[in-house]
This record gives sequence, C-alpha cells and structure tokens, in this order.
Amino acid sequence: MIQTKGYAAQNEKSDLAPWNFERREVGPHDVQFDISFCGVCHSDLHQIRNDWFPGIFPMVPGHEIVGKIVKVGAHVTKFKVGDLAGTGCLVDSCRTCDNCKEGLEQYCSTGPTGTYNSLGQDKKTPTYGGYSNTIVVHEDFVLHISDKLDLAAAAPLLCAGITTYSPLRHWKIGKGHKLAVLGLGGLGHMAVKFGVAFGAEVTVLSTSPNKEVDAKKLGAHNFVVTTDPTQIKAAKASFDFILDTVSAPHDINMYMSLLRTNGVHICVGVPPTPYQINAFSIIGGRKSLAGSSIGGLPETQEMLDFCAKHNIVSDIELIDIKNIHASYDRMIKGDVRYRFVIDMATL
Ligand code: NAP
Ligand code: ZN
Ligand code: ZN
Repeated sequence: MIQTKGYAAQNEKSDLAPWNFERREVGPHDVQFDISFCGVCHSDLHQIRNDWFPGIFPMVPGHEIVGKIVKVGAHVTKFKVGDLAGTGCLVDSCRTCDNCKEGLEQYCSTGPTGTYNSLGQDKKTPTYGGYSNTIVVHEDFVLHISDKLDLAAAAPLLCAGITTYSPLRHWKIGKGHKLAVLGLGGLGHMAVKFGVAFGAEVTVLSTSPNKEVDAKKLGAHNFVVTTDPTQIKAAKASFDFILDTVSAPHDINMYMSLLRTNGVHICVGVPPTPYQINAFSIIGGRKSLAGSSIGGLPETQEMLDFCAKHNIVSDIELIDIKNIHASYDRMIKGDVRYRFVIDMATL
C-alpha cells in the first residue's frame, strides 16, 4: 500500500485536518501521480457538510486534481513517468453499459465511482480525493494536461471547466444565441469564458454588483444585478439559455421569466433543497428545465485540448491548505475570485 498524506473531515461537523491513509499499489493499468494542485469546488463543501446525502467519512475532498506522473503500471499505454496528468470527478465506472460505451461515464447506469465520497466498483472500497499528496487512478480515468497551460490554473478545468463546457456543447450554444450565466463563481466564470469562445452573446446574472468589472474582463457582454427589480424587468424574455450555477436555494421561477419562447434553463448548480417549480413558469413560452452533470472522459479530454489551443484556464487564488476553511467561508458569501486552488506543497 502507498502511504498518503491528506486533509480529511472525520464527520459532517468537523473541520478538515491532517489525516494519513493508504492508497492501493499501482496495478497493471494504473497511473500514480503526485498532486501539485487541487481546485476547491463548492461540491467539496456540500459533501463534507452532508448537504446532499450522508457522506462516507473520513472524507478527503478534492476532484480538480493535477500533477506529475511518478509511476505507471506494466500495461499502461497512454502515459509515461514525468507526464502531466489530471483527474476530475470520476475514477471508475462499469464500462459496459450503453452510457459508458458512449463515453458518458458520468451517467453510468449502475453508478460511476466518484473521486471521493464514493465506493469503488466493488461497492465496498471508499475513494479519497485530491486534498492529498499522491493518487492512483486507472489510466482510462486520467487526462492529459498540456504543458502550455499554467498548471495551477488548469486544475479547475477538471470540474468547473467540464461541467460548463459539456452543456454548452450539448445544446450547441454559440453564435446567434443569447446565453445568461447565473452566478459568477467557479463554474460561472468558466461558463462565461466558454460561452464567449463559442460565439454566444453572454450576460452574467449576479447578486453581486461588485463583480461587474470582472464579468466584463472575462468577456461578458452584459451584466444584470438580480436583486435590482428594474434590471430584472428590463431583462424579461430575452435569453435563449440560462446556465444556472447557483449553489444555494433560489427562486428558479423568477429566472425562467427571463427566457424567450422555447428557452432552456439548464441547472448545473446543486442547492441542498429541492427546486419549487410553478407549472406556469414552463408552459408559458414552451420552456424547458434541464440539467447536466460534469462530463464524460472523452469530452473532458476534448475540453482540455480546446483550452490548450485557445489558452483558456481558470482565474485562481492559490491557497495554503491550512486556510481551507477561510476559503470555504468566503465561498459561502459568494466571494470567490474565481476559484481557490490548493498549492499541495503546503500540505
Ligand atoms: P461558487 O464558486 O461558490 O459559485 C456559486 C455562485 O452562486 C456564487 O459565487 C454566487 O454568485 C451565486 N450565489 C450564491 N448564493 C446565491 C443565492 N442565494 N442566490 C443567487 N445566487 C447565489 O460555487 P461553484 O463551485 O461554482 O459550484 C456551484 C454549484 O454547482 C454548487 O452547488 C456545486 O455543488 C455545483 N456543481 C455541480 C456540478 C455538476 O456536475 N452539475 C459540478 C460541479 C459543481 P454571484 O455573486 O454572482 O451571485
Ligand atoms: Zn466539482
Ligand atoms: Zn456504466
């Protein structure tokens, strides 16, 4: 077994603290990489606090993981020692269902194995995430990261990047579309970058007036303060798509009134409580309410290659792992500019 250092929550009420654990030895198809940086996703906070469902503890969060390969198994063909590597939210899946065969491992019909707070395909071995110094992953769930990208700023592409890239591609959002990005945080700022790169007219819908300058720097064409009734009134029935990245409970009906006829409200944010939807919000204007979860392995590699080609990374604030809870506190206040990334050298 490989002795590993990490940060874990022992239960849903405890803070993260140093915790040593073991990872499996490198198998014939495995890749081991030492973790240089790990992004901090709002899902990390939801999960250590049991916002969604009872978690598996001790829990080592982190699913925006990048680093350098230190060992490969005898049958590994896609990677070699010294390569840069990344792992996102998934580390395994059944590989035999229709979704897996199509490269939609996130929708594996028997349940994919998450990078942490999850069980392996044996349904009994817990997984531990990227707030740690090293990781062992089957090569099929490891991504190539271009050395053209800033490595720390590339880490958030593994979740915030693919989670916003995938729905924009699925709904073919681009030239001629008016896209609203709801919530300018980790996911939201990546959605703005991709929306602009794909040619859409992008509007940020935000509760934070002081993010307007940043939104425009990110490439957004318009900015609407959602707490201002006058601005909301002016934005009525104007968008083809809303990409909803909000992490907290919010009134989806109010936002759906900003869609044009046939508009689509796409949820990627996962608030702890269910949405309340009024039927009138969807029947008037024949609107659709949709959702999307991360992305499969082939599309994640496609997104990373797109980012390397177009020099797209996340805007990050590099943190010492000891300050993780101060970063979570800022995240709860919507004060993320625009992704915290842990420098794993501080572990
Ligand atoms: P984040 O960085 O904290 O950003 C969330 C943003 O939502 C905030 O910055 C804020 O933006 C806005 N917001 C917060 N509270 C709000 C409220 N009460 N009403 C309206 N807006 C509010 O979080 P993140 O890491 O981007 O994650 C966002 C959500 O996506 C989380 O729930 C996370 O679990 C989920 N997620 C889902 C997937 C998936 O596969 N579907 C993948 C990753 C993450 P403003 O200041 O601009 O209002
Ligand atoms: Zn995430
Ligand atoms: Zn499957």
